[in-house]
Amino acid sequence: MKHRNLLMIPGPVEVDPEVLAALGMPPVSHVGADFIEVFGSALEQLRQVFLSTDGQPFILAGSGTLAMDSAAANLIQPGDAALVVNTGYFSDRFAAILQRYGAQVTQVGAPPGDRPSLEQVEAALQGAAFKCMTVTQVDTSTGVLADVQGLAGLARRYDVLLIVDGVCSVGGEALNMSEWGVDVALTASQKAIGCPPGLALLVASPRAVAAFRARQLPVQSYYADWNNWLPIMQSYEARKPAYFATPAVNLVAALNVSLKQILQEGMAARVARHAALSRACKAGIAALGLKQLPASSEIAAHTMTAPFYPAGVSGAEFLAQAAQAGVLLAGGLHPALRTQYFRIGHIGAVTRADILATLAAVESALAAGGYPFDPGVSLSAAQRVGRGQ
Ligand SMILES: *Cc1c(COP(=O)(O)O)cnc(C)c1O
Repeated sequence: MKHRNLLMIPGPVEVDPEVLAALGMPPVSHVGADFIEVFGSALEQLRQVFLSTDGQPFILAGSGTLAMDSAAANLIQPGDAALVVNTGYFSDRFAAILQRYGAQVTQVGAPPGDRPSLEQVEAALQGAAFKCMTVTQVDTSTGVLADVQGLAGLARRYDVLLIVDGVCSVGGEALNMSEWGVDVALTASQKAIGCPPGLALLVASPRAVAAFRARQLPVQSYYADWNNWLPIMQSYEARKPAYFATPAVNLVAALNVSLKQILQEGMAARVARHAALSRACKAGIAALGLKQLPASSEIAAHTMTAPFYPAGVSGAEFLAQAAQAGVLLAGGLHPALRTQYFRIGHIGAVTRADILATLAAVESALAAGGYPFDPGVSLSAAQRVGRGQ
């Protein structure tokens, strides 16, 4: 039988055939007219996907971690104070990156599955003159959604740069960079952007670019230095050739197609689709009697679902059985609870049928593990949500 596993993890994700076709083209010159148009168009569309009117987009060969690294390397000088709003594994990573570039990092956190309140963040902001604050919009280790709009309000009030790790959210959750006042938002190609992995994507507000230009010390990463990349991005957008380091031409071509598809769907419609699919998935999981990691549905992400295993079901065996049933799911990631839960990614080109297939595979894997339930109960719960009942 044809290989037909469904990839339902929080990245990499299923990729539309038109995007894959662009990836499979013969490589072209990075300074040829065709590629200049593709790169220029991808930069313009990236700004639109982030809902930024005046931000500076960057498309770099690398993963989401490079986008995080690039934000920290270019905005932090040794001794700068940075506040990390911590909701899990990827917030820990941002703290480590900021520290690597010499930042004095303060963290405001919450138990796994919860998020610090705006009041707690505000209290922390009152404690020192922070240069920047980072937040993980969807922490992929917990499935917790941050209140980015609320945090942006605080950032503006306390005059700190807000850096949003949107790797598991941009293109799936609402993010309105300009209207909310976000300074840096970043993601990677393989999550809600719907491409294969390999590109780090970042948009910097004029305020962030000004803070970068005001630095007195050189950027401590040669490859990530915006002094090297700004002229390149500006040239391509002006449809002129430029070279600093060879762009990933095939991936940029795939990205350009994917961004076009995202904008054709429309940002509001795309966010609404992710929310509807998330509701269906979470209703199915709840109908099976499985608890979920986020402390409440109000703070649960719409790009992923993080259910706990029921007592007596082994995680490794469960994931193997789900794969056997044709759906690839991810294990736990948060160090405190890694073996107690699993993760379903529903991001990008996901359909209702994918959610139903996923719930069917979850049921098969639970049944194989001896967990008692009424067969089909998750599917009917998901179907009812879909019909608005
Ligand atoms: C996946 C992810 C990252 C890391 O991205 P890589 O492409 O694996 O480097 C960072 N933050 C969040 C929220 C993620 O989901």
